[in-house]
Amino acid sequence: MADRLYALYLSRAARENLPIGLAAGQWGLTNDAVARKLDLPSTSLTGLEILEQLEIGDQVLAANGGPQPRVKRGGWASATLAEGSLWRVTTPYRLDTSEVWPAPYSRPQERWPHRFGIEQVATFRDLRVDRLGLAGMDAMHYSANVGGLPIPVEGISPVISTIDDLQDGETDDPGFLVLDGGLDAVALTSIRREQRKLRRTRFGDAQAAECVLCRQTLPVDCLRIAHVKKRSLCNEAERLDLNNIMAACSLGCDHLFELGYIQVDHTGIIRETPRPHAILALQRTIAALVGRRCAAHTKASERYFRWHREALSA
Ligand SMILES: [Zn+2]
Repeated sequence: MADRLYALYLSRAARENLPIGLAAGQWGLTNDAVARKLDLPSTSLTGLEILEQLEIGDQVLAANGGPQPRVKRGGWASATLAEGSLWRVTTPYRLDTSEVWPAPYSRPQERWPHRFGIEQVATFRDLRVDRLGLAGMDAMHYSANVGGLPIPVEGISPVISTIDDLQDGETDDPGFLVLDGGLDAVALTSIRREQRKLRRTRFGDAQAAECVLCRQTLPVDCLRIAHVKKRSLCNEAERLDLNNIMAACSLGCDHLFELGYIQVDHTGIIRETPRPHAILALQRTIAALVGRRCAAHTKASERYFRWHREALSA
């Protein structure tokens, strides 16, 4: 079952390895960690078996900066974890002894060979029980005591919901995150729910809104909210940048822009991308857009539209 949430505690040394792991798109655990037999109410798996259960799309909340872990179970109920990094699993478990992280002086052979692929989808500060729940704090505490193994969190809904629960007008973009007041303000809730929140921010209670490309006023469920620069190629800051987000209609504009039939020039005017197509109906649709001003084009968003143009001419 994909889309589970795991808690993974980062020791101070592991936290230092985090930027390297994120850049390499992977995380690794030691032989000692995976050999452990877990003693949890819901599972008696080994560390290795836990890793083997990881599936693409699962989420791992890695946190650090907690209190002393050598306290009895439940002892972290009132703890604060200084930092959190939410990962999406991108590749399943594999054994890999290639060198990614510098080995510590005391263990020159250490490669953290038990690996899985990750991408960071959000960061957090000051995680407490109000966000993680007791089950989440307990799982994090347990992870801290078992060498940073990912521990399944029971009874808390995944931080990123599945693609299946899309509502009308929502994209299937899995990493959409909306910020009200910077990363600190992000609640540990469904990113899908956050997308709904953005839709509410953008559209309020309005039943209808304008497509930034054709400028027609349409029912909001005919408008999609999407990244100007292809989301999968954005870094985290770009994914979160509201300048990189636009509402385009599902009557054709969103699709024509995404597929690159149209682009927005540096002055904000919609242009046809030179590409061969002989379908008259498509030519008519494109001609109706060419020359209009894109309402989402600003000085701040130009860099994303430029990315879109350059991707098309590449
Ligand atoms: Zn439109």
